[in-house]
Amino acid sequence: MFNLFGALHYDKRMVDKYDKATRSRMMAAVRSRGNRSTEVRLAKLLRKHRLSGWRRQYPIHGTPDFCWPKSRVAVFVDGCFWHGCPRCRRAPKSNQAFWEAKVAENKRRAKEVGRILRKQGWVVIRIWECQIGKPSTIRRIAEATIGTVLVDGSRDKRTNGGTNGVRNRFIPRQAARALRYTR
Ligand SMILES: [Zn+2]
Repeated sequence: MFNLFGALHYDKRMVDKYDKATRSRMMAAVRSRGNRSTEVRLAKLLRKHRLSGWRRQYPIHGTPDFCWPKSRVAVFVDGCFWHGCPRCRRAPKSNQAFWEAKVAENKRRAKEVGRILRKQGWVVIRIWECQIGKPSTIRRIAEATIGTVLVDGSRDKRTNGGTNGVRNRFIPRQAARALRYTR
């Protein structure tokens, strides 16, 4: 299968036979495919953990990958390559300055989008593509979208499944464990 890392590996061994514009289009194609599959992965996880109420392509600033309009939570999944993940990003050998500038611009824009959304009262969560499967990812989303989770894994009735504007929510450790293992 042709994937991002395959493409990079290919670049390493051979001189880039495509010009800048063509390479850029190819990498953009890789990005959109990668994004779709990572979003599908997260959607599956949300269903598995019975987290509902989310929308895709919800028309707010920055168009988050997942959005909970009711509890005003916006989730972005950042591609490791495109946002310069410190864990797994490998810089391409060719056009290095070009890609570095692109990653810097993505980071800058992500910050700006976050700032604007928070000002509008949204809780903004960013997740690295490589961290989607981590229990802490689902816990962060659950904490923000359904508020306190009781030890038995049920939702806190006081907030009626929403956040009631409470920004500093907390899931006790046992509840997080219940959420992880009983659902
Ligand atoms: Zn990563």
